[in-house]
Amino acid sequence: MTATIIDGKAIAAELRGKIAVEGVRLKAAYAVVPGIAVVLVGENAASEVYVRSKTKAVAEAGMRAIDRKLPATTTEAELLAVVAELNADATVHGILVQLPLPPQIDSHRIISAIDPAKDVDGFHPLNVGRLASGLPALVPCTPLGCVILAKSVHASLAGMEAVVIGRSNIVGKPVAQLLLAENATVTIAHSRTRDLPAVCRRADLVIAATGRAEMVRGGWIKPGATVIDVGINRVTGQEGQQAGKSKIVGDVAYAEAAAVAGAITPVPGGVGPMTIACLLLNTLRAACAQNALPAPNI
Ligand code: NAP
Repeated sequence: MTATIIDGKAIAAELRGKIAVEGVRLKAAYAVVPGIAVVLVGENAASEVYVRSKTKAVAEAGMRAIDRKLPATTTEAELLAVVAELNADATVHGILVQLPLPPQIDSHRIISAIDPAKDVDGFHPLNVGRLASGLPALVPCTPLGCVILAKSVHASLAGMEAVVIGRSNIVGKPVAQLLLAENATVTIAHSRTRDLPAVCRRADLVIAATGRAEMVRGGWIKPGATVIDVGINRVTGQEGQQAGKSKIVGDVAYAEAAAVAGAITPVPGGVGPMTIACLLLNTLRAACAQNALPAPNI
């Protein structure tokens, strides 16, 4: 079997197009322009690249981007003051504080200080609790993107055996909660799971989020299963043409898994593009909720 490739880039572009249309409608009908503040503390090359692409996507979607760049020496009190200011600004509907933060700042305190209605990353304990309780919530972007990709292949995930590999607060746990909300039968595996290949082989749907390059092998995949690879790992090629050159690979050994799976996301071009698209979606939803408008029909 050769798997269908789930084109995250195309699915994200389609989603962004729908969001832009809704944005135009919001502006025309209600004079509301969704605004998202992205706060970056210190100099982190990866974060800066990511923040730049977020800012570009926000502008393309017709939204307002408010970039706040603070020095690495910023104190926790200073960052809390910035968050308070953004919480109070009615033109800011979403607040995203880029992680990791410098060591003098407790990221839990900062995330907890964000108004939960503006928590477009979905990391505030209130949104985490609402998701776990099955209540409407702003949910983390990457997990939301994973579920949208899985649903691009399966109209319903109800009754599917889903195995999530990884239990981080950013990916593993929230994606498991979202799958549960979709009525999948969910197993969360992690570094202490016994016989992970056997657990994985049970799955109709595998979500790999371990940060371990190409850890999930073809032999772990049930024939015909859907595989969503969240991993972004930079590796240096060892043989032939790739020798010495670095490239990005996922947490799944792509070629092996694609020979067995029914559908699979590539890396890059799978989950990655969905994260920013879902951030825009969360910002749009937050802007509607804060203006007591109906939720966007996306
Ligand atoms: P993380 O916080 O490091 O969590 C990794 C999880 O994988 C942990 O729960 C860990 O188990 C588990 N794990 C590690 N080694 C394992 C093994 N050998 N067998 C089974 N489980 C193992 O990572 P994360 O933040 O969730 O990110 C995961 C991956 O997704 C990374 O590659 C990251 O770059 C990528 N990512 C991509 C996006 C995107 O936009 N596409 C967004 C976020 C993250 P324990 O809990 O037992 O330690």
